[in-house]
Formats: sequence, structure tokens, C-alpha cells
Amino acid sequence: MRNRTSLAVRLSYPAIGLALFGLAPLGLLAVDAKTSQRLDQEIEKVRPEIVKIRRFIHMNPELGNREYETAKLVASKLTSLGFEVKTGVARTGVVALLRGGRPGPTVAIRADMDALPIQETTSVPFKSLNPGVMHACGHDVHTSIALGAAMVLVNVKDKIKGNIKFIFQPSEEGAPADEEGGAELMIKEGVLENPTVGAIFGLHVWPENVGQAFFSTGNIMAGADSFEIQIKGRSAHGARPHDGLDAIVMAAEVILALQTVVSRAVDPIDPAVLTIGKIQGGTRSNIIAEKVVMEGTVRALSDTNRRKIPQLMESVVKNITQAFGATSSLNYKQSNPPVFNHPEFGETMQPTLVEVLGKDKVLPLPPQMVAEDFSYYAQKIPGFYFFLGVKAPGQASAAPLHNPNFLPDERSLPVGIKLMCHLALDALEKQNPPEPEPSDL
Ligand SMILES: [Zn+2]
Ligand SMILES: [Zn+2]
Repeated sequence: MRNRTSLAVRLSYPAIGLALFGLAPLGLLAVDAKTSQRLDQEIEKVRPEIVKIRRFIHMNPELGNREYETAKLVASKLTSLGFEVKTGVARTGVVALLRGGRPGPTVAIRADMDALPIQETTSVPFKSLNPGVMHACGHDVHTSIALGAAMVLVNVKDKIKGNIKFIFQPSEEGAPADEEGGAELMIKEGVLENPTVGAIFGLHVWPENVGQAFFSTGNIMAGADSFEIQIKGRSAHGARPHDGLDAIVMAAEVILALQTVVSRAVDPIDPAVLTIGKIQGGTRSNIIAEKVVMEGTVRALSDTNRRKIPQLMESVVKNITQAFGATSSLNYKQSNPPVFNHPEFGETMQPTLVEVLGKDKVLPLPPQMVAEDFSYYAQKIPGFYFFLGVKAPGQASAAPLHNPNFLPDERSLPVGIKLMCHLALDALEKQNPPEPEPSDL
């Protein structure tokens, strides 16, 4: 489902990627039956190794910006395939280039490698060996799929009309405090250059049936911002509130009023979420609290809401605390922009999903209020981001993402590899023939 506010984003979207890319008419399926068969055979060949790799990564999860062993494994595998490999990109990132046998532009396949600070509670034999750290967001699966696609595509190199860049990115879940990291830093360090990347593909595992994929154009995931509010009152004896300025009472007013920013001040059909997830204040039961600190997150899909909400929050926090005669501050930090699936590029590539999986297996997904730093790439060049089903068919429900019991079905690995291979090959095939190089004379 397309979000009605995505138009504004689309209009301000840089068209550099598509211009560079010059796509052919819609629906032209590019990979011939023979190549498609060859891909199937190659996927079948790499499947056992990819399952092993995925289990190894799952057993040895590493937090953001600390993906040392994962990066080492990825880099050594890619080097053994004969790719041009760069390591240490944005700290622990790995970037590899596969040059195709025929000239053409470059597309990228991006995977994230970091795990989460969660204690795993599944009972699989390959459960995390790293206490308190777990691949609960499926980035072990993402990394394995991208690696599997590299292992397959290298064997059909001669068929590739351009280049495929494999981007293994650290720290998607956010870098540790006081560190840079993730997609933004990868771009800053030139991952979309040399050669220039014309379009980028990414996926996320999703707790729906294996064999299904979910795709929509426009803003499909929210922008995610964070904030800290400080309220400074004056302490007094708990029995003499009139001598003080109660920061806890003010905080209560502020929390409730902030909820009305979402329920009363923004367009109800343009989704937004405002959550205060942490609150600290006061020192003792019989002392009027002098200070309260609250932290939270704001999620929004449209540029309008992303601009409007911090301004409204500023006004609510300031005016309520001023009414009590106290002081306050709001420290608002804009982080990930929304993930935007380029409509034209999306419509050109969606037939590939349908061709590979079947029409009834490719479903639309309404925008999700979770965030993904893939958005930084998709701000620069056309991005195509989809969700891959990883629930065992027949299983009533699966544990959600970020849950200690999250356990994607491994049968999703060959499906993901096949989709990524076809998307990359089709994208390169569908581009118009490059302009002839100007003569040296
Ligand atoms: Zn996550
Ligand atoms: Zn994730």
C-alpha cells in the first residue's frame, strides 16, 4: 500500500540513479530460461554451505561496530571467490565487487551484519554462544543470503551486463554511544562510488510464510528520531509541596500532553508514534522531586510530520513547565529517514519477484513504523527493499523480530538468494544500452 504522503518525498527525490540507469519498458523479463535454470542449480549447490555459514554466524553474534569475526568470514569467502574485496569500511564493513562479463552499470546488494543485546531463549543446537547477544533481527540470514547470491552469481559472471557490488554493513541497529556507524558512514566512506552504484536492493526477514515476499512502493518504513526531555523544578519537603516545584507532576502533565501531539495535532491518516520509553526522577518518597529526565522515540512516515512533531513537542514541554514556573529542555535528534521504495524502479522490478515466487506469493505490505538505515542509500539512489517470509508454513505464528525466541526457517535462505540473484541480473539486463563512449580523437 502506498502512503498518501509519499508524493512529497517522491517529488524531492533525486533522479540521478534512474537517469544513470535508464530502464527499459516495464515487465520485460530479462533472465532467459537457461540462465534461470543454471541459477537454480548453483543455488542448490551452495545451499548446504550457506546453511552452515548462517548457523556459524548465528552462534557467534556480534554487536554493532564490533562485527569482527563476521566480517572476517564474509571477506575471506568473497576473496576466495576472486572478488575485489575492501574491508574495514565504516569500521567493520565489507564491500566486494563482481565485474560482469559484459559492460554496463553497477547495482548493489546490501546486507546488515550486526546482532542485538538479547539473551537467546531458543533451543536450537546452533544457539548463540555469546551471552546476552543474539541475532534476533535475522541479520545472520541477510548476511548469508547476500553471500549466497555472491557465490551463485560469480558462476554466471559472463551473463552479467555490468557489475554487482555486495555491501555488508555494520551497525544497522545503531552504533554504540559516541560512535558513528551504519549506512550513513558507509556512504560517507564512498560505498556508492567507484564504480558508481545506480540502484540498490535490500531485504528484511519477516515472520510470515517461507516462499512469500512483501513489497510496496513509497515510504515503507518510518523515520526514527530520539529525544531527551529534562524538567527542572525545585525540591522541598514532601508534605510542603507549595515550597517546591514538583518535577514529577510536571512530567506527568507533559507525558499526557505529548500523546495529544499524535492524537490531536497530526493528520490521523498520516501515521506517527511518540513513545516515552524511559523516565527517571526524584530521590525519595517524601521529597518533592527536583528533576525528571525522560527519553523516547518518534516514528513518522512523512516529511510533514517529521518537521511538525519536534516543533509541537518543544511548545508542549516549554509551555507546561513554564506554567508551573519551572524550566525544561528538549534535546531532539533526527536519525534514520523513512525507507523509500522508488515507485518507478519498484514497478520495474516487482515483476521479478512475481516471476520467481508466483503472483499469489508477492503481497503488498502497509508501511511499518519500524525503521531501517537502508533509507540512507535509498535517499541517494533508487532503492528496492522487500520483506522475505521466514515462518515455517503450517506454523500458527512465529516469534516477532527482536524477540529472544525469534527463529527464521532456513528454507527461506535459497528463496532469498534466488530473489537477490534475479533482481540484480534483471536490473542490469533491463537498463537501456549505454551511450557509446566518446571517441578519443
Ligand atoms: Zn532490528
Ligand atoms: Zn533488522
